[in-house]
Amino acid sequence: MAGPLTSYAGVAALRRALAAREVSAVELARASLAAAQARDDLNAFVHIDEELTLAEARHADSMIEAGTAGPLTGVPIAHKDVFVTQGWRSTAGSRMLKDYVSPYDATVVARLKAAGAVSLGKLNCDEFAMGSGNEHSVHGPARNPWDLSAVPGGSSGGSAASVAARLVMASMGTDTGGSVRQPAALCGVSGIKPTYGTVSRYGMIAYGSSLDQAGPFAAAAIDLVDMLDTISGFDPRDATSAERCNGQVNAPGRIRGAFADFDQAFGKNPDLPLQGLRIGVPREYFGVGLAAPVGDAVEAALAQFVALGATRVDISLPNTRLAIPAYYVIAPAEASSNLARYDGVRYGHRAADYTDLADMTGRSRAEGFGAEVQRRILVGTYVLSHGYYDAYYLQAQRIRRMIADDFQSALRGQCDVIMGPVTPTVARPIGADADDPTAEWLADVYTLGLNLAGLPGMSIPCGFATGAAGKPLPVGLQIIGNYFDEGRLLAVAHQFQLATDWHQRIAGQA
Ligand code: GLN
Repeated sequence: MAGPLTSYAGVAALRRALAAREVSAVELARASLAAAQARDDLNAFVHIDEELTLAEARHADSMIEAGTAGPLTGVPIAHKDVFVTQGWRSTAGSRMLKDYVSPYDATVVARLKAAGAVSLGKLNCDEFAMGSGNEHSVHGPARNPWDLSAVPGGSSGGSAASVAARLVMASMGTDTGGSVRQPAALCGVSGIKPTYGTVSRYGMIAYGSSLDQAGPFAAAAIDLVDMLDTISGFDPRDATSAERCNGQVNAPGRIRGAFADFDQAFGKNPDLPLQGLRIGVPREYFGVGLAAPVGDAVEAALAQFVALGATRVDISLPNTRLAIPAYYVIAPAEASSNLARYDGVRYGHRAADYTDLADMTGRSRAEGFGAEVQRRILVGTYVLSHGYYDAYYLQAQRIRRMIADDFQSALRGQCDVIMGPVTPTVARPIGADADDPTAEWLADVYTLGLNLAGLPGMSIPCGFATGAAGKPLPVGLQIIGNYFDEGRLLAVAHQFQLATDWHQRIAGQA
């Protein structure tokens, strides 16, 4: 069963219905809440509060009434549980924050609220966003709408599943090493991770601060435009927030403007709308480990882009294989530092029995953090410790620079965008990697590099391949651009989606 939002082709169609008073924001919110509750088999939502949602919906209706509505007013959305929210609990999928309610809203949450988007609540995720399958959550695994025995991807699993099941029109996730693109790919929806610094990290529960960026999910790329435009913009409360993006002020309007510019430029020749676009295809993304049916779907998408007028250029990103070791040093190092704040004193879980202060902190952390998080803290503390810092952390930082340089030599001169697979396989069965904690790390090979470089990237649906349970599961195409090229990525994806219908397929109806 799909959600009530299937009757609207996209956010624009829904907005037209709201503007024409065919439906009210409150009616939509009620129907979506009912659908979200009916689909508890997906375990996508971890906290729903009808009163909070209906209050936002009433506010949206009053904006529509007053003529102050914008492109997202009245549109049902939801937030990954790493965005802090006033009212709804903010658990980050962890026992550590099981009952935590924030006194303030994350900037992303506040901006969407101000735009009149209606939040249905909080979405399941891996604990502190660490994982690739949404299996490391105190709330239990979220499930893939295409096959309930498969993971929805992670760490933003609930964000992807809720859009795939059309319980919301769009959702928010975060991407530290692939957590927007990978679940978008595995659930057959579109998702974008913007350039580092585009979207404020204020109120996003920290994982790896030099890598973390928020990004939206929606069925179609066109629906990501207003989401990303609304949440992006300089924020003085995030020290790494960009004030300018390639000379332009980082403010709402920039993404929408860039999208329109590129989209019009591409529209010149209706038969070959992408004429002149050079697509770099990195050979390292098509090597050992890529499942043949996934590679076939990606190749078919590339052929479609060529049919739309684009040119294919073979490129090399020679340090791709070093992304996993570098990322799994840097991300845990930053995590070990960020998670030091959970000491049982200020907030979060506190052990009931202890002898002294050190014992209280030790027990609180042992009880509050799950196995994967503890593993990352151990790795991170180790690589930062005296004697190992130079051997691991500093080396990883050097590799990070080499990976960023690889992308620059391709994107400056050889090609305009880079395309390839998002994941080596379709969604795996829940529990498949339970005995081998590093197996799931390897599946991040195509997504980590651009977080290390700080570049924008997106995933759009491009086909299906058969999963372990014999069911067709979605395949994603990754599109990578240079710094602050989000508008161009969205316009390129939009042209593909005008010519194909993978993004319109809905689980249970395909
Ligand atoms: N799978 C990666 C990790 O576990 C990325 C997660 C993310 O992007 N939040 O760290």
